Amino acid sequence: APTGPASLSGRALCGGIGIGQVVFHDPVVPAAKFFAADPQRELARLKSALQALRVSVDAMVTIDSGALMGEPRDVLETYRLLAHDPAWAERLREGVQSGLTAEASIDRARREHRVRLEQATDPYLRERLFDLEDLDNRLLRVLAGNNADGPQEFDDNSVLVARRLGPADLLEYRRSGLAGILVEEASVSSHAAIVARALEIPTLGGLPGLTTSVDEGDEVIVDAEEGVAHLRPESTLNEAYASRIALRSERKAIYAALRDQPAISRDGVRVRLMINAGLQLDMETLAESGADGVGLFRTEFQFLVSETLPRLGEQIELYRRLFESAGGREIYFRTVDLGGDKLLPDLNQEREENPALGWRSLRFALDSRGFFRRQLRALIRAAGERPLTVMFPMVTIPEEFFEAKAMLLEEMDWSRARGHEVPGELKIGAMLEAPSFAYSLQEISGEADFVSIGTNDLMQFFFAADRMTPRVSERYDLISRPAFRFLDETARKCAQYGLPVSICGEASGDPVKAVCLAALGFTQLSMPAAAVGSVKQAIRSVHLADFRHELCNLLGEGRGSLRKEILGLFAQHEINAVAN
Ligand code: PEP
Ligand code: MG
Repeated sequence: APTGPASLSGRALCGGIGIGQVVFHDPVVPAAKFFAADPQRELARLKSALQALRVSVDAMVTIDSGALMGEPRDVLETYRLLAHDPAWAERLREGVQSGLTAEASIDRARREHRVRLEQATDPYLRERLFDLEDLDNRLLRVLAGNNADGPQEFDDNSVLVARRLGPADLLEYRRSGLAGILVEEASVSSHAAIVARALEIPTLGGLPGLTTSVDEGDEVIVDAEEGVAHLRPESTLNEAYASRIALRSERKAIYAALRDQPAISRDGVRVRLMINAGLQLDMETLAESGADGVGLFRTEFQFLVSETLPRLGEQIELYRRLFESAGGREIYFRTVDLGGDKLLPDLNQEREENPALGWRSLRFALDSRGFFRRQLRALIRAAGERPLTVMFPMVTIPEEFFEAKAMLLEEMDWSRARGHEVPGELKIGAMLEAPSFAYSLQEISGEADFVSIGTNDLMQFFFAADRMTPRVSERYDLISRPAFRFLDETARKCAQYGLPVSICGEASGDPVKAVCLAALGFTQLSMPAAAVGSVKQAIRSVHLADFRHELCNLLGEGRGSLRKEILGLFAQHEINAVAN
């Protein structure tokens, strides 16, 4: 491995910054012998290895995953079920029966999984294959005698480096106080990433060449804020990061002190701050963040992590748990936003040329009526007598909203007719993510209870720039005249048509953007939980009416970006905000 300082860019799978020394994840054990002299003996070896593996995976998932709930739990449970998969065991036995050693048979299965993995583009299927490949590796380790019964112990301040990582691996390592994780091949939605987020370990993935670029013991910085791994950094860089870590914890302390304070501007405007969530686990951050509720619950996450489509009962169960953990605070349930790049294996969707513009979101739900109806029913049943807030994603024309609303009301009648309790108060809203819908507000006036703007999709359509392609999406800034003029106009129209409006895209989580949005009249902002503290601090330090006045002046003249002028105003008015 090289010895000088180097950097690798990757994707942040779990935010944060960690500094530590490299420890390698267990390497794959290659098969030493291919053919077995005694197939019976070999079968017995395979059998006992499989048994040992299953026992250790069962123990890990049931005991070690202790407090993990929701999605990470489901991921681990799936992994456990795969370890017990009869088809997998049968394939391994076949290999041994045909004369291979147990190792060679597993190795063959592993190669098959790898080949399928390389061909699969569906993220869901890829995760299954990743898990299987991980189990193959784990089984090889069991046969080699290093059964990972006792988890490996590391010093604190270790950074785990792996080519690939299974979800269960992290459970084994978690007691070791890992400072960070670097994975050569992993995506944001990978199972390892989901578990890493649950354990709150700064993690970077998608780092080609990583494992050949570092040695055991090398110092590394995992910057999962900027998406960079600094390998063997110069001491000055190290010091800079150490002070960033210190600063972060200082800021955290300030935000924690603000937790029970309201988000009120200096001129008395109350801004309602909410969190975006998608997992049961996120609900823990609701109380910690001091937010007013959940402004966007992405219900499709449940569908994306489970093996088969969640049944009615399972959906009711999740939604009920959410209500319980929200402790009376409002949850905006966004109905399934599938399709596009969020595909399910059971739903037979075709690959599309432009998935973001394709058969997705509410279009897909309205065309899959049985499926959609089941979700609406689950929401009503889970709510019982509690108030229920539902919003439909990416409404493009008013007819789509009316059709979805009619289905929801039919489901209310259906539940009522069968003697179930139904929500005493039902709020039905539409997400404005397609620009066309901004010109249909008058039609839904009096019909919708609110509008929620999803800036992630809205901006990709507004600027015609794919949100998943940084090279184009980062060319265009929301802090610009065209975007602010559009949002300003939309806020005015919502006021004119009596439609309460909020914003629930990631933009709300950037304190500079959040202040601008509040000044444009958006007084409900929903954001990632980690952003609530910094946004609250910014709101509390601004005189919104004064700021609005200056912002409107800027919108009336000049062209293009407003970033420089806005940051100037922040400095001049001493608005306390660190831009993301
Ligand atoms: C959005 O598009 O801004 C939004 C909130 O929805 P999602 O990010 O889930 O598409
Ligand atoms: Mg969206």
